[in-house]
This record gives sequence, C-alpha cells and structure tokens, in this order.
Amino acid sequence: MRVEGSGPVPCDLMLLGEMPAWDEQIEGRPFVGKSGQQLWSNMKRFTGLTRDDFYVSNVIKDGLPKGKDPKAEHLATAIPEFLDELERVQPRIVITAGSLATRALLGTDVRMADVHGIPHEAEVCGRTYTVLPMYHPGAGLGNKGFLAVLAYDLGRLSELLAGNLAPWAPSPHPARCSWLSRDAMRACERVKAFSVVGCDSEGWADDPRMLSFSPDGVVGYVIRTIDGEALDWFRGWLSKKTIVPAFHNGLYDVPVYRAVDITIGTYHDTQVLGYHDIIRTGSGVLEAESQNLGTLAYRELGMRLGELSKLPGVDLASREIPYTDDVMRYAGEDPVAAWRLFNVYRERGLVGTQAYQIDMGQVGIVEEMITNGIPFDVDATTDFYAEVIDKLENVTADLQQRATRLGNREFNPGSHPQVRELITRKIGLRIRKRTKGGLASTNEKALADHQEHPFVKKLQEHRELVKLRGTYIVPLLEELVN
Ligand code: URA
Repeated sequence: MRVEGSGPVPCDLMLLGEMPAWDEQIEGRPFVGKSGQQLWSNMKRFTGLTRDDFYVSNVIKDGLPKGKDPKAEHLATAIPEFLDELERVQPRIVITAGSLATRALLGTDVRMADVHGIPHEAEVCGRTYTVLPMYHPGAGLGNKGFLAVLAYDLGRLSELLAGNLAPWAPSPHPARCSWLSRDAMRACERVKAFSVVGCDSEGWADDPRMLSFSPDGVVGYVIRTIDGEALDWFRGWLSKKTIVPAFHNGLYDVPVYRAVDITIGTYHDTQVLGYHDIIRTGSGVLEAESQNLGTLAYRELGMRLGELSKLPGVDLASREIPYTDDVMRYAGEDPVAAWRLFNVYRERGLVGTQAYQIDMGQVGIVEEMITNGIPFDVDATTDFYAEVIDKLENVTADLQQRATRLGNREFNPGSHPQVRELITRKIGLRIRKRTKGGLASTNEKALADHQEHPFVKKLQEHRELVKLRGTYIVPLLEELVN
C-alpha cells in the first residue's frame, strides 16, 4: 500500500523515514505504528515538539509485504518522487531516521555510527538543506540502552534549533604523513617537555609491518619494521620518561611493539577514553562500533580516516601490506587522530577521572591475561564442587523430611507444581504474585514475602546451590577438561 507524506507544506522541519511499515500501510500515514509511538513520545519528551511541527514522510512511499526489504528498483522510482517532494515542502532541516533515509541525502558511504546527531549540509538540486541523521526509532524497540541514543539524537535536534550546533566540516588541518627520515628524528629529539605521542601499528604480533607515531597531532611518521636504524632510534626515543604513548586500543598494538623489542609501560588509550565519553554523553549505540577510531575521528575531529583493506595491493586475508605511499599515508593518519583525540578527551577532563585510571589498570591486567593466560586452581575448584554437592545433598534431604512430615513422600524441590502445592496448601502461605496462567508463583520474588519461613529459607538455599553447580562450576570444569 502506498503511504504519502503528511503535514503542512511548506514546512521548516521534515521528518524522513525509510518506508511505511505494516501499521502505516493500514492507516495510510507515516510513523503511526510502534516506531511512530517511540518517536513521537520521545520527541515530545526531549524536544517539546509534536508531530504537528513536522512534515512527515518516507523515502519509499510504497510499502512492501511484511518481512520484505526494499531493493534497488524500489529506490530507482522512489528517489525522483522524493526529490520532487523535497522541493515542494522546502524544509530548512531534514531529520533522517535510519540509514536508508540518511544515505538518500548524504550518500551511500555514510555510516550511522559516524553521522548520527551531527548536522550535515547537503546540496540537493541546487538547494542546501541541513540534514540531522538519527538512528531509526524502531531500531531500539525492546532495547533499553537504545533510549539513551534516541535521547541524545533528539537532544541534538533541540540544540540545532537553538542555534548551538555548527554543521560537520572536514578538519582544516589535514594530517601530514611521511616515512620517518633522519631530519624527522632530529626534530622529534628537540621535543623536551613532557609530551603525549600518538602511536599506532600495522600488521600482527607474529608479523609486525609498520609502527607509526605523531609527536604533535600534525605529522604522522611511519617506520617500516625492516628499517633497523629507524626502529633503534624509535626504541630509544620512546623509552624517555618524558614521553607517554597514546594508543587507540593499545591491547592490539602493545604486542606488535613488543615483537620488535619495544616495551610499552604506562600508556593512554583513546578507545577507553572514548568509552567513558560515550557513557557520559549517551552518544553511542553499538559500543564496539561507536568506539572505532574512524567513527570518533569523524565525529570529534572532522577527519575521515581511510580503510587499509581498500588500498591497492592490500589483502589482509593473505597478509599482503605493501610499503607503498598510499599505505604510508593511511598508517600515518591514525596516530595523528589518536593524538588529537587524546587532547579532546583531556580538555573534557576525562583523563583525570577515577574511572579512567581504574580502567587503565584493568587494561594492563587484561593484556597480561591475553598474553599469558589466567592462572587457575583446578584442585581448589574440584574441592569446591565436592563441597557444593555435599551441601546440596543435605539441603535436599532436609527439605524432603519436612515435606514427608507434611504428607508428601516423593518431594522434588526442583518441581514448581510440587513446591506450589506444599507452600500454599500444606503450609498455607499466601502468595500474592501470580504466573501468567493465574497460579501462585513460586519464583524468588514471589517468595520474598516469606523469606524468614524455615521451609522457604531452605528452598532458596537449595536453588542457589543448584545454580552454582549447573551454571558455574560444572561448565567451568568442563571447559578446563576440553
Ligand atoms: N518506519 C519508517 O521508516 N517509516 C514509517 O513510516 C514507519 C516505520
């Protein structure tokens, strides 16, 4: 069924979705189903705006049967229609919900993690629009963590309307990258004061290819691991007490550095800082993606980092990384981005926070666990298992004796119907919580009112021991045996 856009024309604000879902096709209006409810209730809550303030539409007007995704041919007819609509409505700001709508205006190479909540200028058919991408409100149905991102994106709309947000623009200072030369070494030696140096690596711990660093967030120097002289110099220079490396996900790079005999002690990690910032601002949805260096560089620094796998001659599956200038330029940009990102987070005060410092300690521990494994006392675990089994037998016997006294000779404490019968009929406890089927519930919450009753106390003990045995100890021991 076809669903046309609806709202005042012309209109300052356009809310653009992907295509009508099932409810929309039945009612004939965009965003009236579950996604719409999520959208409009949060819109009111976080911006004060209502549906009436928007012209609401979808890129694709013709809904598809349930479960079908749009294909290229749907877009081929939908896009020209949408461009006509855009010209008619003349919005100043288009809020694009989801990647299809965002890509219709900003290009097919944009990623939601990079662009959401950031206004972008888009020129379409000779007119300039401000496009504010947001995650699709339907993406987070049933995911409580997603609400923070929806709140963040809608909060950004409020800020945009208040004139507080400038559109995204590329950094006016592109990174300058080069292979490490002797002149560059001498220039680096002149850096006397305490300094943080952005660092990165290419390759693998068992096959390191390149190390790269930036002393100032402007230039990125790249060292081939076959260049012994440059490596020796770098090893000596990095070991100075006044220099602290800043990696992005150092857990990956530190072993690569170690493979060429460079030991990294204390270091900063912009991925960990990014994580704390995302928690603070609510700006991240898929944590792994939102902490990606490319995403953070785009959002915080106006830098578009390249992708190694897309460069000519590179084939990561067969470990081909040639020493070309393209690869050097790619490799040199990452430490520049790490340097700049570190300084953004430093200015926000994140480096001094207790949580970051605690996490830094954990980073070291996790790294050591990955490298050396985790010491594990099998004998102590086996002893503990025997202790749990013993206790479980005693508690089961105790419960069965109590049940026998109450007239149930074959009592199984794991059976909810038997527990229900005993507790409600024989003991006579009143349970207020009900199961979906209307029976007295026997779960932990339901029994909480009677937790001091001796039978309930023993039953809870039994359940804890069963859980300890089945969920933790047995799988752990099986894992060790495997
Ligand atoms: N999802 C969309 O993208 N548009 C609608 O109208 C409804 C759900």
